[in-house]
Amino acid sequence: MDALIEGFKQFIKKRGLKYTSEREEILREILSTKDHFDVDTLYLQLKSKNSKISKASIYRTIPLLIEGGYIQEVYKKGGQSYYEVTLNKRPHLHFICIKCSEVKEAYDPRLNELIDDLERASNYRFLTFHLEIFGLCPSCREGKVSHETQ
Ligand SMILES: [Zn+2]
Ligand SMILES: [Zn+2]
Repeated sequence: MDALIEGFKQFIKKRGLKYTSEREEILREILSTKDHFDVDTLYLQLKSKNSKISKASIYRTIPLLIEGGYIQEVYKKGGQSYYEVTLNKRPHLHFICIKCSEVKEAYDPRLNELIDDLERASNYRFLTFHLEIFGLCPSCREGKVSHETQ
């Protein structure tokens, strides 16, 4: 954790920006978040810990965290962007329901093999992996079936 914070500090300084305790607080909170999150959730989470961080500073810090490879945007829902921590996260898929916007993460060990093969064959150095599958979730699917049989 501390090595990550230190790396972030260097990254901010290299960009010619000021490293503030606010930015560090935001990063620490994000790194301790396991689920997908949006700015509102993050703001409320920090607020519940008596943090004085404003939504505006979260909005300003997020692009830096994306650029530094700490987080990535995974999907949009109701006009809000949702993010996840990319560091130390194993490759996984997102199933996204086009009707209710539910997002489910899916993992299969064969993904690792597939990605390794693709990396070797392409000669790329892969950093993050992100795959979205769109469809209908089990409950929306059922809803659709019962509607059709009416
Ligand atoms: Zn659904
Ligand atoms: Zn995810």
